[in-house]
Amino acid sequence: MKSIFSKIIDREIPAEIVAENEQIIVIKDINPKAPIHLLIIPKKEIRDIQSFGPEDFGLAAAIFQMAQELSRTVPGAEEFRLQVNSGHKAGQRVFHVHAHFLAGAEMCD
Ligand code: AMP
Repeated sequence: MKSIFSKIIDREIPAEIVAENEQIIVIKDINPKAPIHLLIIPKKEIRDIQSFGPEDFGLAAAIFQMAQELSRTVPGAEEFRLQVNSGHKAGQRVFHVHAHFLAGAEMCD
């Protein structure tokens, strides 16, 4: 079964899309934990980092590159936190790998 993020990528369900390229889509998180809370999502549906094959690690670079682009283009996002929850115990709830891009507030914890 398709993940909710694949359904967003395929425009089957709506989302606020902030950026997109061949490999990545960026959407606003529906339940933001910071003034700016974006999800950087590889279009390829991979469950978690543990499931990456050798051919998938380029996506990590694509995520970092997109984070840099967002920091330069989204007002207030010059400094940011990038977080990946990989596995249920780590807090992952959507099993389609993604990075949380959090910004716009002091984050000290
Ligand atoms: P995680 O717990 O790391 O798997 O994060 C999943 C994130 O996806 C959570 O922060 C949710 O708020 C977010 N989320 C779930 N469904 C949607 C949706 N339809 N549109 C935008 N964000 C979503």
